Amino acid sequence: MPDYDVIVVGAGNAAMAAAMSAREQGAGRVVVLEKATEALRGGNTHYSGGLFRFAFDRAEDLRPLVPDVERQVSDFFTTVEPYPIDHFRADLHRVTEGRTDPELSEILLGRSYDTVRWIAAQGVVLEAAVSLSAVKVDGKIRWSPGAILRAQHEGVGLSRMWFDIAARRGVEIRYETGAVSLLQDRRGRVTGVGVRDREGYQELPAQAVVLGCGGFESNPEWRARYLGRPWDHAKVRGTRYNTGDGLRMAIEAGALPYGQWTGCHSTPIDADAPPYGDRKLTDKSNRLSYPYGVLVNRLGRRFFDEGEDFQFYTYAKLGGIILGQPGGMAYQIFDQKVTVLLEGRYKTGHPIAADTVRELMGKLPVDHVAGRETIEAYQAAVSSGRFDPTIKDGLATKGLDLPKSNWAQPLDTPPFVAYAVTGGITFTFGGVRIDERARVMSTAWVPIPGLFACGEMVGGLFHINYPGGSGLMSGAVFGRLAGASAAGE
Ligand SMILES: Cc1cc2nc3c(=O)[nH]c(=O)nc-3n(C[C@H](O)[C@H](O)[C@H](O)COP(=O)(O)OP(=O)(O)OC[C@H]3O[C@@H](n4cnc5c(N)ncnc54)[C@H](O)[C@@H]3O)c2cc1C
Repeated sequence: MPDYDVIVVGAGNAAMAAAMSAREQGAGRVVVLEKATEALRGGNTHYSGGLFRFAFDRAEDLRPLVPDVERQVSDFFTTVEPYPIDHFRADLHRVTEGRTDPELSEILLGRSYDTVRWIAAQGVVLEAAVSLSAVKVDGKIRWSPGAILRAQHEGVGLSRMWFDIAARRGVEIRYETGAVSLLQDRRGRVTGVGVRDREGYQELPAQAVVLGCGGFESNPEWRARYLGRPWDHAKVRGTRYNTGDGLRMAIEAGALPYGQWTGCHSTPIDADAPPYGDRKLTDKSNRLSYPYGVLVNRLGRRFFDEGEDFQFYTYAKLGGIILGQPGGMAYQIFDQKVTVLLEGRYKTGHPIAADTVRELMGKLPVDHVAGRETIEAYQAAVSSGRFDPTIKDGLATKGLDLPKSNWAQPLDTPPFVAYAVTGGITFTFGGVRIDERARVMSTAWVPIPGLFACGEMVGGLFHINYPGGSGLMSGAVFGRLAGASAAGE
């Protein structure tokens, strides 16, 4: 008789959703294995902004999720635009350049609203993501499409709520217990997990195993191997524990590698951010208001269309593009017309300021002559029109080889400020192939009996880029599926 019905490896959002789903579907003995210490538990989920992207047809569909939201935003329901499944699908296909897996992405899209209802029913409290997604124009809040709700107290709150729910549901958590291998019988069925804990090595038998232990973003050797240079030098935005263990174990057990193994989610962060995520600062080192400014590298040149799209559709690829610049650095330059629009988290930064753009360039460690030329060329290329941060306003530069396609205003209102940024890695896109029940597929394209996966370990959904808020949503959707399937083993 196995010790456990279901072993869940990892203690982030995906794993916790799997554990709660397994309990709900009747699994009696469910354990969560967490490699981290209790003080460092919760994976990237703890560091996240807690934002969930999901499809909904009417603003009123959000009411059951946030019944008290009008206390937070009095006219909330009149400010929210619907985000139907077609819009979510179009966003996901556009930013992944059509490469998202058709089967898995339809599961993510189609189950997103129902799953967010489910996590709320589990006891995860949601709130309006005001500081993350809202822009106030003429006194009225406007939201970035589909990015409306987050967990209360962001990732810190989400992670804490999941652990509280686990305690209420009788789910055991074993800290400092890293899975090192999968146990398999002669027929290939996964029958448990080999672990290393404070006592040493031991084997934990189970009816089914769910892997929800993240990607390989915190493993410099794998980053160098799969992502190449300069990723071995990247700062990690979140946990130091996601070192690809689950992917290694699954592949050793015959799992099919899937998705973009050279791809990852990475964002512009404060150049002085620590090498791994800071438990208190969490995602506050992000610097995502670049659509309102001008971005130059150390050569004093622009290298990215800052106004290509809303930040939630470009930020997850921009980190890598910055990391590829000389020194892995860039500078976001703003004038006082737009500093009011900068996300609140810019307050954690230390901008360099000057009264003229020329003087500002002189203070930055960039090629001063080229930097001044770049800004002069930009100023000469902006056209007149109405600036509107709530829509793609078409206020584009004219005649530049590298345009700024929206929100291109002159830098003309001192003092001017520059924020130094680098690229921080969030999570990797390569994973294993799962089916519609979150069963891990073998290289023979048949399910490996007893083995399930969810969260960052799922390959195929994200390529090149991703729409903000999809990581937690995917973790919840496939975690819930994995847990329910595992309970049925
Ligand atoms: C700064 C930051 C901000 C973000 N903001 C958002 C956001 O607002 N919205 C959004 O959708 N996404 C966001 N993300 C991405 C999101 O956090 C991840 O997609 C999501 O948390 C992944 O969930 P997961 O459960 O798969 O992995 P994780 O939450 O990383 O959990 C992995 C778990 O596995 C454990 N583990 C690893 N190896 C082992 C092992 N061998 N044995 C046992 N345990 C192991 C880890 O310790 C951890 O508990 C953000 C990420 C970061 C870093």
